Amino acid sequence: MNEPPVVTAYAPGRVELLGNHTDYNDGVVLGAAIDRGLTICGSNRADGIIAITSSTMGSVRVPASNLQPLVEERWANYVLGVAAELSSSGKGFSAEISGDLPAGSGLSSSAALELATALFLLKLEQRELPPLEIAKLCQRAEHRFVGVQSGLLDQVTSLFGKADQAVFFDARTEEVRTIPFPEDLALIIAESGKKRELASGAYNARRKETRAAAELLGVAALRDVTSDELNKRRDLPELLWRRAAHIVEENERVWRAIDLLEAGDGAGFGALMNASHESSRKNFENSTPELDLLVSIAQQLPGVLGARLTGGGFGGATITLCERGSAEAAASKLAARYFERTGIASRVLISHIADGAQ
Ligand code: ADP
Ligand code: MG
Repeated sequence: MNEPPVVTAYAPGRVELLGNHTDYNDGVVLGAAIDRGLTICGSNRADGIIAITSSTMGSVRVPASNLQPLVEERWANYVLGVAAELSSSGKGFSAEISGDLPAGSGLSSSAALELATALFLLKLEQRELPPLEIAKLCQRAEHRFVGVQSGLLDQVTSLFGKADQAVFFDARTEEVRTIPFPEDLALIIAESGKKRELASGAYNARRKETRAAAELLGVAALRDVTSDELNKRRDLPELLWRRAAHIVEENERVWRAIDLLEAGDGAGFGALMNASHESSRKNFENSTPELDLLVSIAQQLPGVLGARLTGGGFGGATITLCERGSAEAAASKLAARYFERTGIASRVLISHIADGAQ
């Protein structure tokens, strides 16, 4: 008997450059795919079983018919959720997950896993779908099988990323476009070493708060408010005002950042990153003492233009924009000083902006 053909798919992690929690508020965001990701390799099975192995998480075997989220091996739900979204057929497959993308660090290993799965299954079934539809079915899988109401940024960035380009995404119009990133700049990713515990609960709480603020402001989404308008609405409950201010100003920072990128103005872009972090810290309260420390250490290092938390927050990683020639020194000083202050051996990587999923 012939062995079934083996197929492989890869999807990278991503950084959020600016536009924090804006995607589910119909807003705008700038991200970039990075040079680390997850690969899925495998083949069809004739026995109706889905067998998934992860080099870091273990193995599961479930019947392909009537897929349901697993309660114990929750990591497999990203794969099963995508299989459930894609397959009407209930066919079995074997899949092995491997890669160099850390999980739970805010680099969106979840979206990378979903997209690698989607591309893998589409190849297995010799089907094609428009890219935005693929991104959306992965998002639905995360909503339905994992229970995290994530926006679409992660999947769009991992899928549409281009080497040395930032990805602009408008969550309302669904416009996606890439913008050249200044070549003389490097991105340094620093893990705080604190897992994003309770992150999904806090994430969903921020979704509710920003929704409530939009309702009180009488708009469809916070996308429809300017900071001038918001400043005239101090009658809002104080907490909701601060949540709204974060989203409204993040959108404005993204629009300004596009002009700065087009002008090659790294210093200006870095200043917006600093302002974004300050807003996370004070208004959105999705930073942590560890993320704050990483950012403040980074901001004092030579060659650094700006730093902020990246992704959902509540733990995870920071991103630092640095002149390329100073990046090695800045990365090692950042790791050393963070260790001195916290005793946490943070993983600090210099990352290149890479191509999206294949
Ligand atoms: P992030 O997306 O920032 O990495 P999430 O909590 O959204 O953090 O997703 C991390 C989860 O994705 C892990 O807890 C695990 O369930 C799953 N995951 C990530 N990488 C792998 C992997 N290599 N193998 C299996 N599951 C993985
Ligand atoms: Mg995630």
